[in-house]
Amino acid sequence: VEFLQRLPKAELHAHLNGSIPLPVLRELAYEFLAENISNPAHDVALPDLVRTGVEQLQRGVVLGEIHQFFALFPAIYALTSTPDALRRAAHAVLGHFLSCSDGYPQAAYLELRTTPRETPSMNRLRYLEVVLDEVEKYPREQAALIVSLDRRMSPAVSMECVEHAIYLKKGGRRVVGIDLCGDPKAGNMDEFAQQFRTAKEAGLGITLHIAETEDCPAAETLQLLSYEPDRLGHATFLDEAAKKIVHTKEMCIEICLSSNLLCKTVPTLDDHHIRYYLGHDHPIVVCTDDILPFRNSLLGEYALLMAEPPLGLGLTEPEVEKIARMGMGCRFGQ
Ligand code: IMP
Repeated sequence: VEFLQRLPKAELHAHLNGSIPLPVLRELAYEFLAENISNPAHDVALPDLVRTGVEQLQRGVVLGEIHQFFALFPAIYALTSTPDALRRAAHAVLGHFLSCSDGYPQAAYLELRTTPRETPSMNRLRYLEVVLDEVEKYPREQAALIVSLDRRMSPAVSMECVEHAIYLKKGGRRVVGIDLCGDPKAGNMDEFAQQFRTAKEAGLGITLHIAETEDCPAAETLQLLSYEPDRLGHATFLDEAAKKIVHTKEMCIEICLSSNLLCKTVPTLDDHHIRYYLGHDHPIVVCTDDILPFRNSLLGEYALLMAEPPLGLGLTEPEVEKIARMGMGCRFGQ
């Protein structure tokens, strides 16, 4: 374990609202419920949604298939909708990855990602500023922010998010990239071309969730690749034409082992596409995705690389060291 703890690891694929440590989520839920139950002016359905959602997260989430996963977020979002709650969530997530426990941090470097939301007490720009205030409490070599666009966003909203990211970057704030995320079945990917072009021209890195499920159309995958991303989230179901582009352009693959197994997009570790990329000596980075529902950790993901099959991939120390180095080499904020 000490070998893995010592290894400088980059966490490049962690969603803020999916990575809130459970005790902090519970605290936010108690406060939310206390305030909302005593305030009949508030939406009566929300406390029930929060109670059910938090109970489910506490019990441990069992997913039949990936689309059930996205239903977890409305309850979490109800709890991070004020600047103060969002600040506390961001603080806890950064602390989880970057503070030392047993003498070592989970990650030497974190690129945290989040989708700017408009709420009754914050606009999207304020949302990003609140998160950045927390990110920037760490040195530049340790933490940076990626702005996520949800596949469901209208073109106007996704462009607004890109414009905020550029404005913040130009103002010296630590925004390093743009992500595309959300339910892989949702949205029309034609509507994102201009957004990614604009982001790229402004010098932001691009990472896209791509081919996450078997039913993602091959044409959509090729279209997303035409936006020239630097990194790809999951990339589980790429066909030969897509793989060729990915290899030629050396696009780094963000690998989330536990997430894929728990969302049932990959049946076993032995079937995982990490084997394909390792076999082709292609750049990858090993990440957690959403530690709140998946109950995983970056150290645990690396332990899966080393554990003997069928529990793990049975890789050697030099192989794992090489993977960690590749991950560090794929940072946007270098
Ligand atoms: P947020 O961006 O901080 O609000 O983090 C939660 C959001 O990340 C969810 O609502 C999803 O849109 C997105 N997300 C988290 N995990 C995944 C994934 O595995 N695939 C696609 N989107 C994801």
